[in-house]
Amino acid sequence: MIGIYGGTFNPVHYGHLRTALEVKQILALDEIRLVPCRMPPHREHPEVPAEMRLQMLQMAVAEVPGMRVDRRELDRDGPSYMVDTLASLRRELSAQPILLFVGADAFAGLEKWHKWRHLFDYAHVVVMTRSGHRGGELSDFLNRRLTEQPEDLRRNSCGCLYFQNVTRLEISATAIRELIANEMDPRFLLPDAVIGYIRRHNLYRS
Ligand code: ATP
Repeated sequence: MIGIYGGTFNPVHYGHLRTALEVKQILALDEIRLVPCRMPPHREHPEVPAEMRLQMLQMAVAEVPGMRVDRRELDRDGPSYMVDTLASLRRELSAQPILLFVGADAFAGLEKWHKWRHLFDYAHVVVMTRSGHRGGELSDFLNRRLTEQPEDLRRNSCGCLYFQNVTRLEISATAIRELIANEMDPRFLLPDAVIGYIRRHNLYRS
C-alpha cells in the first residue's frame, strides 16, 4: 500500500512529518510519498517557488526510510489537481492500494475539489483526525464509502473513506512564516536542515 500526502509545504514542518510517519506505521504502508503542489487550485499561489518547497521537503525526509518526495505535480502545467496526480500514480502502480491522506481541514473542503468524486476511482481517502472527530454529517456519496475496517483498505485498491486518529501538533506553515517575518526563531517547529535552507535563501523575510 502506498500513501500520498499532498500539500503546499510552504515550508514543511513537524505537523506534516509526524502525521505522515504515524499513518505510515499504523497502516503498515510500504511507502508514503509527499507530493508538493506546484500551483494550488484552491488557495493563493505561494510566493516561494515549487522547486524550493520541494528541496526543503527532500532535506526533511532524506534520512527517513519509506518516506519520499514525489515531484510529479511540478512537471505538469496548469493547476495541480489531485485527481490528475492520482490518475498518473494509478497508471504507475497498477492495482496496488493507494491511500490519499488529507487533514480534517482539507477534508472539510473536499467536495469543492476538481472532479472530487473521481478521487475514489483511483485511491482510498484517509482523513487524519484528532480524537476520532469527524466534523459534520457526511453526504450520501461519502457515507456509502465509509469503512471502519482497515483491512478494507488493503483488500481494495480504491474507493473507501476511512478516518485515522493521529497526534496533531498545533503547528502551521502560516505561523512559521509569520515568526520568520517578525525575526523570531522558528526552531523546534521544523527540521534544523529546513531552517538552514530558509536562512541561506532568505525566505519568508517579507
Ligand atoms: P498553511 O499554514 O500555509 O495553510 P499548512 O501548515 O496547513 O499550511 P499545507 O501544506 O497546506 O500545510 O498542508 C498539507 C496537508 O497537511 C493538509 O492535508 C493539512 O491538513 C495537513 N496539515 C497541516 N498542518 C498539519 C498539522 N499541524 N498536523 C497535521 N496535519 C497537518
